[in-house]
Parts: sequence; C-alpha cells; structure tokens
Amino acid sequence: MTRRKLIAGNWKMNGDLAALAELDGIAAAAAANPGVDVAIAAPATLIAAAAGRGPDLAIGAQDVHAADKGAHTGCISAAMIREAGARFSIVGHSERRADQHESDAEVKAKAETLHRYGLNAILCVGETLEQRDAGQAKAVVTGQLAGSLPDGAGAAWLSVAYEPVWAIGTGRTPTVADVAAMHGAIRAKLRALIGEEADAVRLLYGGSVTGDNAMDLLGAGDVDGALVGGASLTAAKFVPIITAAAIIPA
Ligand code: PEP
Repeated sequence: MTRRKLIAGNWKMNGDLAALAELDGIAAAAAANPGVDVAIAAPATLIAAAAGRGPDLAIGAQDVHAADKGAHTGCISAAMIREAGARFSIVGHSERRADQHESDAEVKAKAETLHRYGLNAILCVGETLEQRDAGQAKAVVTGQLAGSLPDGAGAAWLSVAYEPVWAIGTGRTPTVADVAAMHGAIRAKLRALIGEEADAVRLLYGGSVTGDNAMDLLGAGDVDGALVGGASLTAAKFVPIITAAAIIPA
C-alpha cells in the first residue's frame, strides 16, 4: 500500500500577519516536492490570510467545536474555519486534552463534524512519560485511538498523529524502533477497528521533529509523515523536513 507523505506544521499560539511571510518559502517547497503533501495548522486569526498562499500548501485549524453553531463563547465551528479557507483541522492535540480536558468522546465528535463539513482531520494520540515508564504506552495510545476514532473513518480525510506527550517541545524523541513499534500497534488497532481501510490511513509521528532527525524518524516503519510544532514556524527549519520526506520512498 503506497501512502503519500504528509508533513504538517502546527503553529500553536504563535504567529502574526508578519509571520505569514514564512509561508511563501514553505509553499515554494511544497510546489517543488509534489510527492509530499504539506500543511500548516494556523492560529484561527491567521487562517483567512494564510489560505491561498499557494495551491500546494493546505492551511488548516488547530481545533474546532463539534457543534454546528450556537452558544459556545470563544469557540469556532467547522463552517467558520471552512469559510476562512481551512481544509483540515487537528483534533485531540495533547495540549488540548490536558489544558481543556478534552475527552476521547469530544475528540471523536469533532472529527465527525469536520467530515460532515468536507474537511480533513489530523487526530492526535500519545502517552505521557509516566504512562510510558509504567509500561502502559501501547495500551494508552490504542485506547485513545479506539475512543476518539470517528465513525466512518476513512483514509481520504483522516490521518492519525502519534505524539508522545514527553517528546513535544522537549527536544527528546523516542528511538526509531520505538516509533516503528508504536506505529505498528496503531496500524494493527486501526485494522481491528476499520478493516482494510486502515492500510491507507496515514500515520504521522510528532514530537521534536527537526531537519536533523527527520530522515531517521520518517524512515521508520509505518511512518507516513510528521506533525511538527516548533520547527514549522520558519521556512528555514520546516523546508528541510519537507525535503527529507521527499527523499524517503513511499
Ligand atoms: C506538536 O505540538 O504537535 C509538536 C509535535 O511540537 P514539537 O514539534 O515542537 O515537539
């Protein structure tokens, strides 16, 4: 099964209109590497300005509300991000699971809403260091996957990002063997949940990916791309990850 590589950046609560200049270099790298899908999850305030920076660069959101509309002060709907130009959203990022106490059920509902609005989803799962040290990493991650996988999950619109919480923003990464083992476990769980469709779903690794470690991490078994935080904020740091993905055979 051939799966196109996806390199997605997550700007989190960073960036302003001036920072959008970085997207020009990223869009140029996307155009120069047609075998790789490139995306940036922008802060909600920048989606409209960022969308359309280049046809090969998909702009998305970092979160979305599960409801269509209504009394949810401070939240943003799928229709709103779509109208602003988003093509996808991240759901279930560990920072939201921790800071906003998002449950698996909420994450699942958000992903299903994205699908109803014709938007793609990047669904994040990952264990804490405590859970890894206790030997619970696989059980936690596959449990999150089972709980937050949307009904009707399909490879055309859903990717899964494995992001060990302890590797996010820390400069620490799991070994390549650990990443391959976890991605294998995620793939197996997906097969149990959605059958053959699982083989087409892209599995991204996220957590301190840089231009220096991208070749190794992207080359691990069952890794179909990366979700990148800090190193996605500038073209100088993000483009080497895109070019690494282009070199690795699908
Ligand atoms: C992330 O937050 O999704 C992430 C992977 O961050 P970083 O690359 O900075 O570790």
